[in-house]
Amino acid sequence: MASVTLKDVVKQYDDVTAVDNMNLDIRDGEFVCLVGPSGCGKSTTMETIAGLTMPTSGTVHIGERDVTNLPPKDRGIAMVFQNIALFPHMDVYDNISFGLRLRNYEKEEIDRRVERAADTVQLHGMLDRMPDEMSGGQRQRVAIARAIVREPDVFLMDEPLANLDAKLRVHMRTELQRLHKELDTTIIYVTHDQAEAMTMSDRIAVIDSGELQQIDPPLVCYNEPANLFVAGFIGSPSMNFVPGAATATGFHSNDGQIEIDFEPSDVGVTPDQNVTVGIRPEDVYPAEQADSLANPTKPISVTTDVLEPMGDEIFVYLLTEEDAEVDIDDPNASGQLLMSVEPDSTIAEDEEMEVVLDRSKVHLFDSETEQALEHGIVETTGGAADSARAHTDD
Ligand code: ADP
Repeated sequence: MASVTLKDVVKQYDDVTAVDNMNLDIRDGEFVCLVGPSGCGKSTTMETIAGLTMPTSGTVHIGERDVTNLPPKDRGIAMVFQNIALFPHMDVYDNISFGLRLRNYEKEEIDRRVERAADTVQLHGMLDRMPDEMSGGQRQRVAIARAIVREPDVFLMDEPLANLDAKLRVHMRTELQRLHKELDTTIIYVTHDQAEAMTMSDRIAVIDSGELQQIDPPLVCYNEPANLFVAGFIGSPSMNFVPGAATATGFHSNDGQIEIDFEPSDVGVTPDQNVTVGIRPEDVYPAEQADSLANPTKPISVTTDVLEPMGDEIFVYLLTEEDAEVDIDDPNASGQLLMSVEPDSTIAEDEEMEVVLDRSKVHLFDSETEQALEHGIVETTGGAADSARAHTDD
């Protein structure tokens, strides 16, 4: 077990900055996922930790040791990659033990480690199988066992489940969590799949364009995204974004359809500031359910468009503007709002209805800096406070 620390790491390839001033502090025994879209610099960050790539500047520490200039074999790490490169002419035992045999470990020590690793990844009784007699998931487990026998301080895994089918991926996620619990080793795991990151990690490091956007536990990234990028990347389907501006009494969307009352100084905005409201599909409700919310917004008039029944919920695409068209590929298309409702909902397509937002789940972002300003508007609004006061005066 060991901590991993990246300090001011930059990796420049000609005119591409693959990693841009990365500072990461991964704790001893932690399971951290590096997530972000393709090309954001996840693999380069991982390769820098592994020693497969030298950073242009900055340092890498594993535990107390500065490993920036050490080759991969001296870093106390083991790697598992997307492409499972097993030796086809060797059985499972020989594949798992290959590295140990190369390093001239005693036969007894090799047997002990192979047995233990095979147990951990549940490959008992399969040590004499050849790779072509195994399923994709079993082969991936052999690759993981091969990493385990090295007894590394840190596991580095780069999209290890990407080539498996969807069902097996979900199963292997659970196995990796179990493995982490059992081995108690630091795991750094690269994936572009935010669902994988949400389910497995102690903390998620969200990366965009080579820059770390946020590193926090999954639910903190979900409930308190640091900026628009994290808000849009974490969560499926994505958060709705509504561009608009702050007014003296709250928020007014650019399309004029959505108003949210609040006291600007309470949420750190100034009137006229360009603000984007973020709201997740599960926090949009049909107006008749407003009574069940402690803090609903005013009703918003919409027309339903496409419905997507998912079995456990229905996604309802709503149009806030008459002439808007739904763009399912762009969840944040202007004039469009996605709502998730119960599976027994009777909402139909092309229906006029009113919806409300749960104010306690509304996120406010500065449209220019894209940074989060507020998560949840729960304070009594200026207007409501005024009317309450007026009532008392009576
Ligand atoms: P990810 O793993 O998030 O998909 P990468 O770390 O592979 O992203 O790549 C980050 C950026 O660096 C990309 O723009 C990629 O094209 C570039 N890049 C990666 N490796 C090299 C290389 N060896 N030479 C030049 N550019 C590279």
